[in-house]
Amino acid sequence: MKLLSVVVPCWNEEEVIPFFYEEMNKTMGVFEKEYPDTAFELIFVDDGSKDRTLKLIKELAAKDERVHYISFSRNFGKEAALYAGFLNAKGDYVVCMDVDLQDPPSLLPEMYEAVVKEGYDSAATRRVTRKGEPLIRSFFARRFYRLMDKICATEIVDGARDYRIMTRQMTDAVLSMGDYNRFTKGIYGWVGFNTKWLEFENIERVAGETKWSFWKLLIYAIEGIIAFSTFPLEIISWIGGALSFIFLIFTIVAAVFYAGGTWGSVPFIAGVIALFSSFNLFAIGIAAWYLSKTYLETKNRPMYVAKETDL
Ligand code: UDP
Ligand code: MG
Repeated sequence: MKLLSVVVPCWNEEEVIPFFYEEMNKTMGVFEKEYPDTAFELIFVDDGSKDRTLKLIKELAAKDERVHYISFSRNFGKEAALYAGFLNAKGDYVVCMDVDLQDPPSLLPEMYEAVVKEGYDSAATRRVTRKGEPLIRSFFARRFYRLMDKICATEIVDGARDYRIMTRQMTDAVLSMGDYNRFTKGIYGWVGFNTKWLEFENIERVAGETKWSFWKLLIYAIEGIIAFSTFPLEIISWIGGALSFIFLIFTIVAAVFYAGGTWGSVPFIAGVIALFSSFNLFAIGIAAWYLSKTYLETKNRPMYVAKETDL
């Protein structure tokens, strides 16, 4: 028997939980026929909901023994909910899915096939359209992924959803990332492994409202950059270094022209001031470079993730 754990973060989702359970039941029915040797475990993570979410989940758990729950003392955010779910999942395969049916459960058999039959470590999903999303949100989301792609060493795919199935091995690797400020999309990329990408068209939520305001997303984006890139710290020294060089040349030229009597003293004095300010920036940049290394060390990330060994 194989166990498939489904981790479902929920924050104030009383309206959608019944729909979700119904859809999920259909999908589990499909599995019963196609994969009779696979059992399910549904782990609902209640992220400090203020509505009837927890009550509904408990009712489900009472009547369906596949349903389990973890309830947070307050809202810790989706990333923390995913972590808690992964930590408690016992499955040979683990999948995380939004409760609002924007991650269609009907895609699950195909995802499962990729890891069980096709030998992938993971099957992930990406939206190829952002239909139904506010235009401004789509615009900034695309810019964000473009930027991340440029300044991060790890791969972060545009339109990627958190909806993904992983083997036990990859789940353990994700859990070994002790990042406190978690950016799961970056973590998936960081741990590596072979991923099959499945594409689908954006689906709007069945009910309820998105939990992400524009500001919450902007802050999430900035945190994603900071968690996976030290580029903002390193750029300081590059700018400082370049400016120092430019103003050094300028100051020398100004000094020569001043001595020759062509220019007054003002350009020379301005040059000296600019030279010292840019040198300051350069010095801060060097300190920031060390800070960026210290920052990465304090994350205590694993040195590597091995996939196979005969030791
Ligand atoms: N969610 C959560 N904690 C939060 C925000 C969201 O657990 O602080 C859950 C939410 O209940 C849903 C999923 O994360 O299952 C995705 O949220 P949402 O649908 O609001 O995001 P969107 O699809 O608009 O990006
Ligand atoms: Mg959603």
